Amino acid sequence: MAERGGDRFKRKPMRKRPPHERIRDFHEVALGFTEEDALAEAARCLQCPNPTCIPGCPVEIDIKSFIGFIREGDYESAIRKIKEKNNLPGICGRVCPQEVQCEEVCVLNRKGAPIAIGALERFAADYERSKGVPEARRGEPTEMRVAVVGSGPAGLTAAGDLARLGHEVTIFEALHSPGGVLTYGIPEFRLPKSIVRDEIEYVKSLGVKIMTNVIVGRTITLDEVFAMGFHAVFIGTGAGSPKFLYIPGENLNGVYSANEFLTRCNLMKAYLFGEYDTPIYIGRQVAVIGAGNVAMDAARTALRLGAEEVTVVYRRSEAEMPARLEEIHNAREEGIKFQTLTVPVRFLGEDGWVKGMECIRMRLGEPDDTGRRKPIPVEGSNFQFEVDMVIVAIGQNPNPTLTRTVKGLNTSEEGLIITDENGRTSIPGVWAGGDIVTGEATVISAMGAAKRAARDIHNYLMEKKGAALGWIPPTP
Ligand SMILES: Cc1cc2nc3c(=O)[nH]c(=O)nc-3n(C[C@H](O)[C@H](O)[C@H](O)COP(=O)(O)OP(=O)(O)OC[C@H]3O[C@@H](n4cnc5c(N)ncnc54)[C@H](O)[C@@H]3O)c2cc1C
Ligand code: SF4
Repeated sequence: MAERGGDRFKRKPMRKRPPHERIRDFHEVALGFTEEDALAEAARCLQCPNPTCIPGCPVEIDIKSFIGFIREGDYESAIRKIKEKNNLPGICGRVCPQEVQCEEVCVLNRKGAPIAIGALERFAADYERSKGVPEARRGEPTEMRVAVVGSGPAGLTAAGDLARLGHEVTIFEALHSPGGVLTYGIPEFRLPKSIVRDEIEYVKSLGVKIMTNVIVGRTITLDEVFAMGFHAVFIGTGAGSPKFLYIPGENLNGVYSANEFLTRCNLMKAYLFGEYDTPIYIGRQVAVIGAGNVAMDAARTALRLGAEEVTVVYRRSEAEMPARLEEIHNAREEGIKFQTLTVPVRFLGEDGWVKGMECIRMRLGEPDDTGRRKPIPVEGSNFQFEVDMVIVAIGQNPNPTLTRTVKGLNTSEEGLIITDENGRTSIPGVWAGGDIVTGEATVISAMGAAKRAARDIHNYLMEKKGAALGWIPPTP
């Protein structure tokens, strides 16, 4: 066992595989905490009487208590405490932007380095997984039925919470595999599919049924869902439609949206090269347009699939990049190049294939409505560079398949579903949450919204059933 106490202000770093080794495969880059690391990191926690970290977690995990259990070496109680609020701890411990959530508001952040809350959550989840996940406890059946559309983090959270309260829940998922972006977007080297699979199995063990290959709005309508006997519907259809640049040459062969590129890699198993012959074209010189998490994932995936040089092209400077700092750092370590203050104005082609890009340099002006300094083109600064593959990763729009087919569902100009703070839409009995409401955001914000909606759906169902109003806290 590690010595307790230690240096309060020195955070335990997460072990990682060396760059030269990890760029040759899709195995996970971050290796997680050893027991010794976890004990030492948990020992730094001040166990504040009024912990500030908890309000920083959108799913309200009792962070102080679970870290307290890790300090005592009681890992079973730690994971049980986490699972009172979060059915997907192995996922959140890996991909949550903790630095702007729970860790940002940890008091030690002001004094030095915050507690590595995400890494400790991952440790507890991985510990449980290595020992065998105990059977989930379901609530007493209420005979009320809820349909959930979409099986991303929002859908899985709403479904899990409602099933735990005794409701009969069925998820309808358009694709052949559940998980949403967790399955078809985030690459294996950041979030192994086996973790996603196991945490989905846990949600299923709460009694949730998942029907794949069902597109609500095409295979069946929302009215037909109600006609099947469901008493309430939660929509978590995400923001899965790629944004484009709308510049000349964008339809050349070799120009992908990040969405298509990563989906091909993930769902058609290109990451298992050697075992699967996935139809995916990889150029020698690849440009990735954009600098969010999706761009970093696409760049690092292209590198692993055999590109010789990958350059991230971004219109602002590094300080404004929306990707997590950790992922920018990982990409740099792996040899990804960065061309900042640059925007492509057209793609150049030969025989129908992309062969280059014409770009223009930018300078930064005053902050725009996002708070970031606005990029302004520098006249006459056009230049060309050679590329034989481009991945456009400049953002996603809401998925319109369902929203376009439902009468009376209020949406914004961009196609986002408009809800109140509990996720209620303009149609009675229909809730929504996650990226389809906020636009592309984060796993944990989608889960937080789904949790609030699940509470409200439960109250609605209980009211409908004639039971007393009020939220009954879920029993783990
Ligand atoms: C490549 C990539 C990397 C990312 N990295 C991070 C990260 O590191 N950290 C982080 O916090 N966030 C990250 N994000 C963002 C995060 O994944 C999303 O914010 C989150 O997945 C949103 O969850 P959701 O449940 O709302 O939607 P989604 O995960 O998009 O799930 C929506 C589901 O609904 C299904 N669906 C859509 N329409 C229908 C229909 N009509 N009928 C039935 N099913 C339907 C879709 O197939 C999909 O499975 C990343 C996103 C991408 C694309
Ligand atoms: S789920 Fe995310 S925000 Fe909540 S405690 Fe875990 S890492 Fe922090």
